[in-house]
Amino acid sequence: MWRILVVDDDDNERELFAQILQGKAKCDLAKNGREAISAYNLSIREKKSYDLILLDIMLPDMSGIEVLDSIREKEKRVGVVKQRKIPVIMVTAKAEKDVVLEACRKGCNDYMIKPVDNHILLEKIEKTLKKKL
Ligand SMILES: [Mg+2]
Repeated sequence: MWRILVVDDDDNERELFAQILQGKAKCDLAKNGREAISAYNLSIREKKSYDLILLDIMLPDMSGIEVLDSIREKEKRVGVVKQRKIPVIMVTAKAEKDVVLEACRKGCNDYMIKPVDNHILLEKIEKTLKKKL
């Protein structure tokens, strides 16, 4: 079972992700950037790090890109090697090229456009986790 942190401010989207991943992953859910960062920090403190984060870009308190940035900064600070960095797949409602490019610069592993397709989501997760090994 994967351990995945799902970050999305939309209740329905969060539930949809959890449903798609049912039986494949144990999901923790976060509805804003603050919750996402504290879940991430807790996972590190408890040495139960996530296999992957699904990160919505449009969040109410901060953007998903800022969340990503803060995670990558922390990894850099504590000297996490490249292969140990947590895989992050960005999820965005619109295929805004600039936003996607920015996310890639900040170190996301992949991205996908909403509405989320079950098969594409699972494929992307598998591909991302395989690349990591
Ligand atoms: Mg959103």
